[in-house]
Amino acid sequence: MVKKISLLGATGSVGENTIAVVMAHPDKFKINSLSFYQNVKKGRELIRLLQPKMVAVGTQALANELSLEFPNVIFTYGVEGLSEIVALPEIDIVLTAVSGSVGLLPTLTAIELGKTIALANKETLVMAGSIVTDLARRKNVQLLPVDSEHSAIFQCLQGERLAEVDQLMITASGGSFREKSRLELENVTLSDALKHPNWSMGQKITIDSATMMNKGLEVIEAHWLFGLDYDKIKVVLHKESIVHSMVHFVDGAVMAQMGASDMREPIQYALSYPRRIPMKQPKPFDLTTIGALHFEKMDFQRFPLLALAYESGKMGGTAPTMMNAANEIATAAFIAGEIPFLAIETYVEKAIKMENYVKHPDLTTILTVDTETRNLVKSWL
Ligand code: NDP
Ligand code: MG
Repeated sequence: MVKKISLLGATGSVGENTIAVVMAHPDKFKINSLSFYQNVKKGRELIRLLQPKMVAVGTQALANELSLEFPNVIFTYGVEGLSEIVALPEIDIVLTAVSGSVGLLPTLTAIELGKTIALANKETLVMAGSIVTDLARRKNVQLLPVDSEHSAIFQCLQGERLAEVDQLMITASGGSFREKSRLELENVTLSDALKHPNWSMGQKITIDSATMMNKGLEVIEAHWLFGLDYDKIKVVLHKESIVHSMVHFVDGAVMAQMGASDMREPIQYALSYPRRIPMKQPKPFDLTTIGALHFEKMDFQRFPLLALAYESGKMGGTAPTMMNAANEIATAAFIAGEIPFLAIETYVEKAIKMENYVKHPDLTTILTVDTETRNLVKSWL
């Protein structure tokens, strides 16, 4: 059976890797709907290449323009557009590879309709983990991780019982500034921050890796995906990015999943799950060439946003929502050259100390707090 996919964020880095996997297995996968935001040049190429039935773009004007150009494709736009393209009856699996909090609502729509979710967009679980996982449980929908660390843990857990897990060990490369002291971070530039040592990814997540916010988001994502307490989720610095993550079991056994730094692997695993299928042109992986693997304790003083993510995860409620919203605005401001690198931390820390914390929020409250936090951080810029 050909699995029919809705790909949210087709023009991005995860989108591109997903398309490579789909193109390598036309007998197994087809992209029936896709989205992009504003990258029209690449979007046009993808429409020609993939011939989707339905496409969501950023604005109505762009949707109208493209409708004239591609009369056989249905165009829609905005966040509602993302929800429309995942809702096509033929879609089996939705791969959420948009960047940022815009991933939440279409993911909820897809779960409501019983579609399997291949989740790359980590902001969805950080913003609204309890709502998303509750709905998935009620609708009997599987959330398949695409993030490499969570895919690694998920693979290590196959056939195992969560009750027999002692702890999860998430590996962190350390990002582009891992060799720099905090003092040296004062004058770093955007182009320095975008030079990730191991992975080629979108801008936002590359900056998140440099601030270590990415690992913080991943800790919260792991909490919701695997239902484990925060004291059972640890982070270790592993500069080679060969071990994608590990699971320690109660009997002392440790399972680790390894591989090249190639996002096609976790994407393909999510799409082909529960089976494995051959990888086309796999990146070489030879431990004798790699030679040695290194692991170091995480320094929370050096990376305060990781400590903050644990703190906000444990607080629960709207704390991670605020953290995520503040981080999106502050990171975008750094990318736009409006604030220095270290100010990202300052703004995120300040945003979580706000008074409007709610312990058991519903979706409306989460969306309100998200908007309020964004506006607040914008007012500080
Ligand atoms: P990119 O920045 O490369 O791509 C983002 C995609 O989302 C693009 O298609 C972009 O469209 C679209 N987009 C951006 N803003 C909006 C918006 N407001 N509304 C609708 N669509 C929008 O991101 P990545 O591929 O790197 O990451 C995607 C997600 O996956 C993130 O949540 C990230 O944390 C997660 N992730 C990424 C990994 C990676 O290897 N890159 C690994 C693990 C997780 P356009 O191009 O037209 O602007
Ligand atoms: Mg990751």
